[in-house]
Order: sequence, then C-alpha cells, then structure tokens
Amino acid sequence: MKFADLHLHTQFSDGTFTPEELVLRAQKAGLACIALTDHDSIEGCARTAAACAAVKMEFIAGAELTAEHKDTEVHVLGYFLDTENQTLLERINKFQAVRQSRIREMCAALNKLGIPLKADAVFALANCKSPGRPHVARALVKEKLITNLDEAFERYLKKGRPAWVPKTKMSALESIELIHQAGGLAVMAHPGLNRTDDIIPDLVEAGLDGIECFHTKHSTVMSERYLEIAEKHHLLVTGGSDCHGFSKKAPLIGTVKLPYGHVEKLKAAHKKRK
Ligand code: AMP
Ligand code: ZN
Ligand code: FE
Ligand code: FE
Repeated sequence: MKFADLHLHTQFSDGTFTPEELVLRAQKAGLACIALTDHDSIEGCARTAAACAAVKMEFIAGAELTAEHKDTEVHVLGYFLDTENQTLLERINKFQAVRQSRIREMCAALNKLGIPLKADAVFALANCKSPGRPHVARALVKEKLITNLDEAFERYLKKGRPAWVPKTKMSALESIELIHQAGGLAVMAHPGLNRTDDIIPDLVEAGLDGIECFHTKHSTVMSERYLEIAEKHHLLVTGGSDCHGFSKKAPLIGTVKLPYGHVEKLKAAHKKRK
C-alpha cells in the first residue's frame, strides 16, 4: 500500500531539515508522496520538488498559513499552490515581516527580564524569512540562556508568559480565498490541537476544501470524530506528521501515514477546481 505525509516543515520555517534531508527521510520512511507545509512560507517548495523529482517521489507544494476566525487561531494548509502566484507571494511577504518584527518584540521582552538575547542572534540561527518562537527557543539554548527548548516555552514563550507576543494574523476566510486564487485547496490543520470545531461550519461556508483528520497530536478517537465531520460537510480528508525535524523531540516524518487514496481524492478535487 502507498502512503503520504502531507504536513512537513523544513528550515524555510521552523523545521531543522533542509529540503534534501527531508526527502531522504521520506524515502527511508517508505512514503510515496509528501507535501511541504512551512509556516507562512513557500520558499522551500522549489528545492523540495527538485529533491523529490530526483528520487521519483510525488510532491505537493503547500504552506501552513497562520490565521484566525472569531478570536480563534486556526492554521490553514494550502495544497497544490502556484508558488509564483503574485498575490500569494505579496501576502506571505507581509506576514513574514510581521513574524520578523515579532521576534524583535520577543527579544525586547526577554531583555527587560534581564535575558540578553539579541534579535540578530535569532535571525542568524533561523536564516529564513518566516522565523517563529521555536527559533527564539533554540537561540536561548544555543546562547546558554536556558537549558532546553521546553523550558523556553514554559517560562517565556507560551501564551500568557512574559515574552509571549501575539501575532497579527490574516483572517481564516481570507486565507481560504488566498489559497484558492493561487490555484490551491484549503484544508484546516490539526483541528484537535487548536480546538477549532466551533468554527468549522463558517469555514465550510467560505469554501474550505478539507480537514486534517490524521495528525500526530490526534488520538484515534479524535481522528474518527474528524472523519465523521469531514463526511458530514463533504470535506476532503488529509493527514500528516507535522514533522519539524529535531526542533521537537524526534523527527516525526512518516509516523502519520495517510493512505494514498486520500491523495487521489485531493488530486481529483484540485483538477476539478482548475
Ligand atoms: P509561532 O508560529 O512563532 O507562534 O510558533 C509556533 C511553533 O511553536 C509551532 O511549530 C509549535 O508547534 C511550536 N510550539 C508551540 N508551543 C510549544 C511548546 N510549548 N513547546 C514546543 N514547541 C511549541
Ligand atoms: Zn512549526
Ligand atoms: Fe500548525
Ligand atoms: Fe505545522
């Protein structure tokens, strides 16, 4: 049987793998198809596509857009994106600029607490346009200002902690529209993680195409629940590991195996939309 992993991050956001390393790992995990879904970024797609082509693995160009609806944060996955779409690139640029200024604000907050982390140290470590809290955590560890990544989140970076800075996000409805105009399909990421069930009907109304039923942090019961929700709203079903390389404990790539039949359905829906 063929399997896919449709939720993966690289160094182009907060993953630790290069596109080439990611594809090598995907091959070792026996995957037939992968999608790259970096946070608010599509820069890694070209290299990942090339690395996949070299080993005859199927590749889907994607992104994970940070959005919100009615004060709820929701991550919207875009699949089959035209990575040269100008509107998409412009909007992504804007949200990458927001991410960069947020890093400065987080460092300023840390400095106020007497922790001398410089924004430039975070940018140097991140070396990407879409930096986030995991880069701040890694920089804190690297500079020996804290002992481990978990502690960085627990003490400073998670919501409500002193160096937590909210992100200006695009509206979820806009993210769906943005993905559609770039030729893609819009899928709600890890609904069980963000507890976004309440907003599903609104997003369906706005044209949501699918829902990520299978995810590392979904229990079997949760996945079954989202499969039912998908059926009820006639949504496509996706799944992925949300692998961030070594920025989380162990690389997760291939630990969530989406049966390839779901990829066939995604491709058919994408073709129909064109
Ligand atoms: P950001 O986009 O900057 O808000 O950062 C989000 C990233 O931080 C995601 O990859 C999350 O999985 C990760 N993250 C959020 N909370 C924690 C935590 N408590 N420990 C480790 N990583 C976390
Ligand atoms: Zn991430
Ligand atoms: Fe996410
Ligand atoms: Fe993710």
